[in-house]
Amino acid sequence: MTDLEALCAQYEGAPPGEVLAGALEHYPSAALACSLGLEDVALVHMASLLPMAPRIFVLDTGRLPPQTYDVLEALRLRCGLPIEVYFPDHQAVEAYVNSHGINAFRESLALRHACCRMRKVEPLARALRGADAWITGRRRAEGPTRADLSLFEADPDHPGLVKINPLLAWSLEDARAYVRAWNLPCNPLHDQGYPSIGCAPCTRAVADGEDERAGRWWWERPEHRECGLHRQPATGENR
Ligand code: SF4
Repeated sequence: MTDLEALCAQYEGAPPGEVLAGALEHYPSAALACSLGLEDVALVHMASLLPMAPRIFVLDTGRLPPQTYDVLEALRLRCGLPIEVYFPDHQAVEAYVNSHGINAFRESLALRHACCRMRKVEPLARALRGADAWITGRRRAEGPTRADLSLFEADPDHPGLVKINPLLAWSLEDARAYVRAWNLPCNPLHDQGYPSIGCAPCTRAVADGEDERAGRWWWERPEHRECGLHRQPATGENR
């Protein structure tokens, strides 16, 4: 059994707050990636209850909906923790937009990946400098790209780093219930049919019966609905 498998076995079925606390004992330099959705708001709150909170960071792509910025500010004030914000390289954005157009990500999968790489993946690499692990709010129930998550898993895109997913067993309703119970900031788009919220032009509301991430890059096939921040460890496929 590898160290990661042993950690998965040790924390299997444990409440998320316990997983988070245990994760920080094993990975004291872990950083929490906060997308400002329900799950990450819950994780930031759990972190604020610990004696020593992890670093918390947000990736501001420049294309987020205005409601998301309101959550960022409200969460910072509510939880009393510093939240670092990382931006894309402005020269890369200017070159992309001036060559391809402001909404070129709809034209091809390659241009969409290039946009996510520039606005998310590169800033993520900077945000993770010095970290030994990162914590995400991903859940298995979100859809096919997340069905095989583990509590602790190697990150194929950042060799040597571990990804920790304390909420993997939560349902969307679990996340909603936690945020309501603690009266935490909540993006109003969640109540307008947006279970998953990313950049404004790449997110729409989902219809009844659609999977939770169906509104992300809805014009693409379901197995492509990831932004390049997360890859399947088993296959190495970029999702
Ligand atoms: Fe670009 Fe859309 Fe990816 Fe945001 S989600 S980085 S706008 S392609």
